Amino acid sequence: MTTKFGFKLMSIQEFEAWIDARQLARTVLTIQEHHTYSPAYAQFNGSNHFALQQGMKNYHVNQNGWSDIGQHFTTFPDGMVMTGRSLEKSPACIVGQNANAICIENLGNFDLGKDAMTPAQHNTIIRITARLCKRFHLPVNTNSIVYHHWFDLSTGERNNGTKNNKTCPGTAFFGGNKVADCVANFLPLVIQAGAPSAPVVPVSTVLKYVSVTASSLNIRTKPDANSAKVTDREPATLGAILRVYQEKNGWYKISGSQEHWVLGKYTTDVKRATVKASTLNARSGPNANFDKLGTYTQGQELFIIKEQNGWCLVNMDNRWVSKDYLTFA
Ligand SMILES: [Zn+2]
Repeated sequence: MTTKFGFKLMSIQEFEAWIDARQLARTVLTIQEHHTYSPAYAQFNGSNHFALQQGMKNYHVNQNGWSDIGQHFTTFPDGMVMTGRSLEKSPACIVGQNANAICIENLGNFDLGKDAMTPAQHNTIIRITARLCKRFHLPVNTNSIVYHHWFDLSTGERNNGTKNNKTCPGTAFFGGNKVADCVANFLPLVIQAGAPSAPVVPVSTVLKYVSVTASSLNIRTKPDANSAKVTDREPATLGAILRVYQEKNGWYKISGSQEHWVLGKYTTDVKRATVKASTLNARSGPNANFDKLGTYTQGQELFIIKEQNGWCLVNMDNRWVSKDYLTFA
């Protein structure tokens, strides 16, 4: 493993061990698949991983005005994996769909007739996706694993590639970028590589979920402001969804297995809900007369931060949905 510019470059084997050892405060519900489009294979010379990654970061920061590189991980034609922005932060990769997501950018242009994906990168994309599903207990389906193509470019509405979409992750990505292509060609490989094929029963020991309201929230070793900060994970960030396993004097234990505590007053309670309508309109305010901003899809999980007259506000998104079409865990 080598580190440069704050990025870590790993083989897929090293990645698997690394991700298994990561402690993450943020709740992860989706894995996004993208292709970089540019840079593509022609720009990769076998040893310029860091330069290409730094170039993408510069573009995202200077051209797009983002705080950091957009993605959490980049895969390369030689099968190597590089880290990007902190896993404690939402990515900047799909408008309106970044909360609770991990973003993978696969270096190349995988539109038909462009870059022919190498066997090494093919293998790495399957394994990184499988390992992330396994690590974060995500069932392999098209709610947990999503392609950029399935979302409206400007609103983030999920329309499965029928209107105003990018081709990303490419019209030839594992046999195509449609939902049916993903189900037929990509998901079986991810399951074969060890990811859970069925929905994973939520851990019953979770007392509740909370959303972080501070820009950065320290995680401590005891329910006490004078105790040491934990050394094996970064502070949680604004809007991150944390699992609470225990409460003590206003402090929340956010790990099932370790003494990791945060001060409850810098969080607010949220409810975990599942969309039961085939599509659910998201609106700018709490009734059906407000502008439609996009849609959520059946089976998609949302965290609800506030309720008002039968309408629910989705965590951090400033989008309201009707409570009638939600099931609460
Ligand atoms: Zn994309």
